[in-house]
Amino acid sequence: MKVLISGASVAGPVLAYWLHRYGFEPTVVERTPAARHGLGGHAVDLYSAAAEVTSRMGCWDSIEAARSRLDSMTVERFGRRPVEVDLSRMYAGISSRHVEILRGELTKILYDASRGSAEYLFGDSIATLDDDGEGVDVTFDSGLERRFDLVIGADGLHSNVRRLAFGPETEVLRPLGGYLAVFSMPDVFGLGNHMLAHFSVGNLVGMYGVRQTGQVRAAFLFRGELTYDHRDKEQQKALLVKRFGDYGWKVPQLLEQLPQAQDFYFDSIAQVSLDTWHRGRIGLVGDAGYSPGPAVGGGTSLAVVAAYVLAGELAKAGAAGLRNYEDVIRPLVDNSRKLSPKTMGTIIPGSALAVRLMPGAAATLAKLPTSLQRLVWSQNEVGKVFSSTALPDYSDLLKPESGQPVP
Ligand SMILES: Cc1cc2nc3c(=O)[nH]c(=O)nc-3n(C[C@H](O)[C@H](O)[C@H](O)COP(=O)(O)OP(=O)(O)OC[C@H]3O[C@@H](n4cnc5c(N)ncnc54)[C@H](O)[C@@H]3O)c2cc1C
Repeated sequence: MKVLISGASVAGPVLAYWLHRYGFEPTVVERTPAARHGLGGHAVDLYSAAAEVTSRMGCWDSIEAARSRLDSMTVERFGRRPVEVDLSRMYAGISSRHVEILRGELTKILYDASRGSAEYLFGDSIATLDDDGEGVDVTFDSGLERRFDLVIGADGLHSNVRRLAFGPETEVLRPLGGYLAVFSMPDVFGLGNHMLAHFSVGNLVGMYGVRQTGQVRAAFLFRGELTYDHRDKEQQKALLVKRFGDYGWKVPQLLEQLPQAQDFYFDSIAQVSLDTWHRGRIGLVGDAGYSPGPAVGGGTSLAVVAAYVLAGELAKAGAAGLRNYEDVIRPLVDNSRKLSPKTMGTIIPGSALAVRLMPGAAATLAKLPTSLQRLVWSQNEVGKVFSSTALPDYSDLLKPESGQPVP
């Protein structure tokens, strides 16, 4: 079976890798030109089950070696003493294996693991899809025309495949009432591998050092209701300046760097909410189908695990596997969806009481012995989503002739 995958970030390369191991012929189309692929990006998290998938792909050691090494955070607030949080201990109770890594680094590692298993087309995008029940005719922006047995959208929150096959994104994006702005800037505060955050009611301003570039990433998360054009970066920068212009703290030095920022990201924190993730021979995986919201719902781990499951279910049942895949991952997706409004509510404090209590609670949790941390996490959704190591076993479907060891 020939499978076209749109998007070569997290879900796309994982899906391509496993499909090849089961004897499929994957092609991956990525909008970004090859020279810019895998550059930069924000820090993302891999938890137990996703760690297991990448271990089975043989890339866990590279992922661990590239981890961000942000081990400590200082939380500041107006009129209160700073609180130190030991980030290296924050996740001990949630997940037996956890790594924070820049998305660009992860993308590069996953691409390297799958490049020999798939055809990659960089700097192109799907223009039209025509599913006739037996296969899908595809035209690309470059003018290329090809036919595939299946097409999978792994092209993120603003998925092109979803727009073409499921309709406009305004119908499926559910804003959670928050916004996220991120950009890179020089390390003017000498942060190194440290994270600095400032909490106030409705706002979280943070920055962390990126050892690979020597720069820092500045992040603004805030509650509100804004109208903006998602393509107009200058308008979004102006909105950020309007909102934080008189915030105080270290924000003036951050905003000073904004006009020069090349990688400015601004988006509403929104979930993708669809009842089904396939139509005929076209399917969705990762953020494209069920983004829990950027930075609040563990979307990266979900994308890795779901791509592994999708490949396994397609290997089991061919095109009918699209339906079975939905059944397998639905509980995970539902948990993530429930989790993200709560995470957003915690990291962007909604009240003065939350501003007062949250940093101390985080510091205390990080100091608890692992067994006690586990007990705390086991009582709530966060623990349930991230501590799971359960993965379906598809090893009997692997094709030994793909030249790789069966895990
Ligand atoms: C600022 C920010 C902070 C985040 N922080 C965290 C975090 O702390 N922890 C966490 O787990 N997750 C975090 N996330 C979410 C995480 O990045 C996603 O959940 C994860 O990357 C999803 O992977 P994906 O492969 O499904 O989609 P994406 O990583 O979004 O990749 C989509 C790919 O498709 C490509 N593409 C887009 N359109 C087209 C097209 N028309 N044709 C071809 N290719 C196309 C894109 O270039 C990209 O390569 C954060 C997200 C953001 C934006």
